[in-house]
Amino acid sequence: DQMPLADAGAAPMDCMHEDATKDPRWRGEFPWSSLLKLHLSQTFGIRSFRPMQREIMCASLSGHDVFVLMPTGGGKSLCYQLPAVIGEGVTVVVSPLVSLIQDQVAHLEGNRVPASHLSGPYDQEHYRQTMSMARSGELKVLFITPEKIASSGALLGLLNDLRDRNMLDRFVVDEAHCVSSWGHDFRKDYIRLRCFKEMYPTVPIMALTATATARVSHDIRQQLRIPKCLVFKSSFNRPNLRYEVRKKSPKTVIDDITSLLGERFTGNDGRIQSGIIYCLSKKECEDVAGKLSRLKQRNGRKLSIRHYHAGQNHQEREETQLMWSNNEIQVIVATIAFGMGIDKPDVRFVIHYSLPKSLEGYLQESGRAGRDGRKSWCILYYNYGDSRRITFLLETGAKENNVTKEQQEHNRTALDAMRCYAEEQVQCRRVLLLNYFGEKFTKDKCRGTCDLCENNQGKSFHEKDMTEQAKSLVMVVNALRLRATRSYLIDVFRGSMAKKVLKYRDDKLQHHGAGKDLTKTEAERLLGKLLEQNVLEEQTYRQQNEFQSIGCRLLVNQCRASTVFNGMLKITLPYLSTAFSGGAGADASEPEGDFDEIEPDAEDEHFQTARA
Ligand code: ADP
Ligand code: MG
Ligand code: ZN
Repeated sequence: DQMPLADAGAAPMDCMHEDATKDPRWRGEFPWSSLLKLHLSQTFGIRSFRPMQREIMCASLSGHDVFVLMPTGGGKSLCYQLPAVIGEGVTVVVSPLVSLIQDQVAHLEGNRVPASHLSGPYDQEHYRQTMSMARSGELKVLFITPEKIASSGALLGLLNDLRDRNMLDRFVVDEAHCVSSWGHDFRKDYIRLRCFKEMYPTVPIMALTATATARVSHDIRQQLRIPKCLVFKSSFNRPNLRYEVRKKSPKTVIDDITSLLGERFTGNDGRIQSGIIYCLSKKECEDVAGKLSRLKQRNGRKLSIRHYHAGQNHQEREETQLMWSNNEIQVIVATIAFGMGIDKPDVRFVIHYSLPKSLEGYLQESGRAGRDGRKSWCILYYNYGDSRRITFLLETGAKENNVTKEQQEHNRTALDAMRCYAEEQVQCRRVLLLNYFGEKFTKDKCRGTCDLCENNQGKSFHEKDMTEQAKSLVMVVNALRLRATRSYLIDVFRGSMAKKVLKYRDDKLQHHGAGKDLTKTEAERLLGKLLEQNVLEEQTYRQQNEFQSIGCRLLVNQCRASTVFNGMLKITLPYLSTAFSGGAGADASEPEGDFDEIEPDAEDEHFQTARA
């Protein structure tokens, strides 16, 4: 049934996929239960399943299409490798990088599981042997890169042949976010993978990713033509990672990193531990690496450090990555070109020298620390200038590359969220990070493992009643009807005088500027609180423009909202009580202390008029 959405250019869609995460059905006994258990220990040498692994396998073995969301290091590979081992036929796995595939094949062969690949360059003999082993069903796992699907008629012939003989057990799409242009690593060839469901509707698909956003995960299911699949989503909290934001002052930041390396990140052997420093540009990479490599370590040796970016040739990059993987160099200074395919277990720190463009990116990049489960650090250097710099880069980039309005809006919202994370003074960093991805997570579970929880221990807070502001915000969402994206809502609420906002001021919108006394950060926190309390809800929808893309907007849960309006639900936000402030009115609403150079509103000149 259609909702009246004409003015938003959008149509409703089933945002209700089947969340199977807590379904007790998959925890039960199945005919293959004991076989799974047997091969878990005998083939893989693993004693017990991690949370959700067994459930995912059972759902897939029952013939369902499944979509697995699990953070990096969570153990996604086993979810398809173990079912492949107990199956009669062949499991076909798509993975984006030859290096990832080689690692996987080596791992399986090490466990005596017949596996091979059709990817990258290979000789005739390898090809012939792989094809014949696959055809005979001797092969359990066949890895392919997505290009091969299009370029190899013989491969399609093989798939058809296997399917006809009931020997095609399942398709696996690893790193499935590559199929979404909203993801952080879109690969054109992944689009071809829709042919799995279109051409082989009866063969189950398992798609896996460490991407946490609702929009991307929705898009993946649409693109792979499995909108009704079962979804398994585990917590994205990584308890062994410590989160910290440090003030970035251009004059002292290198010294600051130096002392971190020399102290916190120096092991007992006097050697600096393994880590990554992410920079914004190629030039910044080279600068930072150059400055740091002049340093000497405690034992008098030079710190071995190298940079890595897309401007280097393939060989140079490969060599750097290999040296780092083998601990011949300790620190790699990189752009985000250094990313997928890194599965070094003992990365002890990921430092962001510059602000990432989104929390999605930050979760991915910082998540490369501590895969082995040991305590590791995620440190972000921040100043307001950096966020201005990125805004500028995004704007010029958008002009040069003809980026759509919608994508620009998306970029802006993403950066806003990243900035709020960096500027936060009160709320737990984990709460901010995980709530952003729609996961309910509370501060008590952090146990002082982020800088704010740690530093704010023993400090006093007061809860400030924000119920009136909350009501206004809800009214703005109602007034905007289906136009309420995050950033647009905040603009209207705070009374932006930008043209696209003013357009709606005269007619329906009486609450323009109702929240003009709040800083942007406060408004974002209030919005976050209302989402957490389910007063507002986020809904993804399919836009009927030429891109058929996915939008994300806010809706009022009228039932929950009525409890705010009738006084049953009070909305409060925590504020740090400063020693010198008088009453509850003078409080830490503006970023303070360490962040004194930040002017939260300087970028929005149009706000000045609104406030005057
Ligand atoms: P992901 O693909 O989710 O990032 P991997 O599949 O590479 O993670 O697994 C990460 C590590 O966890 C691997 O070393 C793997 O052997 C290990 N692992 C997976 N499942 C288990 C388990 N049930 N018990 C112990 N170790 C496991
Ligand atoms: Mg993986
Ligand atoms: Zn915390």
